[in-house]
Amino acid sequence: SPAPAGEHFAEVVVDVAAVRANAAALRERVAPAALMAVVKADAYGHGLLPCARAALEGGATWLGVAQPAEALALRAAGIEAPLLTWLYPPGGDLEPLVRARVDVSVSSQWALEEVVAAARAAGATARVHLKADTGLCRGGASRQEWPDLVRASAKHAAEGAVHVVGVWSHLASSDVPADAANAEQVAAFEEALGVAAAHGVEPEVRHLANSAATLTNPASHYDLVRCGLALYGLTPVPDLAAPADLGLVPAMTLSAFLALVKRVPAGSRVSYGGTYTTRTDTTLGLVPLGYADGVPRSASGSGPVLVAGRRRNVAGRVCMDQFVVDLGSGPDAVAAAAGDRAVLFGPGAAAGRPQEPTAQDWAEAAGTISYEIVSRLGARVPRRWT
Ligand code: PLP
Repeated sequence: SPAPAGEHFAEVVVDVAAVRANAAALRERVAPAALMAVVKADAYGHGLLPCARAALEGGATWLGVAQPAEALALRAAGIEAPLLTWLYPPGGDLEPLVRARVDVSVSSQWALEEVVAAARAAGATARVHLKADTGLCRGGASRQEWPDLVRASAKHAAEGAVHVVGVWSHLASSDVPADAANAEQVAAFEEALGVAAAHGVEPEVRHLANSAATLTNPASHYDLVRCGLALYGLTPVPDLAAPADLGLVPAMTLSAFLALVKRVPAGSRVSYGGTYTTRTDTTLGLVPLGYADGVPRSASGSGPVLVAGRRRNVAGRVCMDQFVVDLGSGPDAVAAAAGDRAVLFGPGAAAGRPQEPTAQDWAEAAGTISYEIVSRLGARVPRRWT
């Protein structure tokens, strides 16, 4: 049968072997600590199930997601590894999580009471990870609230409603390893663990580190590290280290197929607002991806593309479905025709292709972080796993 029309526009190819190898490298780096593969948000756009399976094959023994539906999708696919979910509003139905043996983060008294109610309804013990706010001021119980949360959890644990599997927290500035906030948060985490121990709460796993802390701050590893970005081969510390320096290979390649190639005269103003003017008679290529597909409009005029082995930037504005590249003229011209592949980003230097742009290059062009580049790719871009 003919390929769906969308596949003639563009494709995301995810190298699952790279995810597997990145998991193995991270696990080796942190041993004897264990590795949690963070696969929320469709594995940062890389595909929930293929990436979860690849990470487990590579040596991850835990999975982590933000939302209950993500956790239940993993269980529905038959994945039985220990699995933590950490974000849910009051009034949600937590019973399916308890039944599916999904570990639930608890940051507050209301969350604890809802988990206990779900456990009673399920006739089972809920597995919880108590979250302390050690300085990020996002999720987690504050320093003032922590002793009460620990005390209440110990009481419910004694009654069999909950089992405190973990105590955990999250770092605010791990991507700036020299920031004093990192050591302050480790100290605050130690204090929270001490308070828990004083109430008889001795968790199986204590965890604090994300990718950046995993790679730069061994004092934060504890029993388990939670890696997302690094698992997908991207660097959380771009100013300090490229993926290859960290033993990682970016897993995602985004490319599109030129929808049109045409000659235009010097002085042609390109795309909405005419913000780019051709300096010579030249050839333009039309790339059929736009901000609806996750190509950031803020990378107008700067996002890099590789066509026929040559690097070019977005000419003028990124539109909803398309953008233009100036393929050039004379000896410098890119020899390309409609249908040819334009690579927006791939593993680049980490795969021995230094000319190839990376998600990090797009992040810099757009004034953002590579997390946003990969996780915001639109649903109409077909994904393929190799
Ligand atoms: N832990 C928590 C609580 C998170 O929210 C995230 C993602 O933002 C991670 C770990 C993984 O972070 P990273 O992708 O930087 O490894």
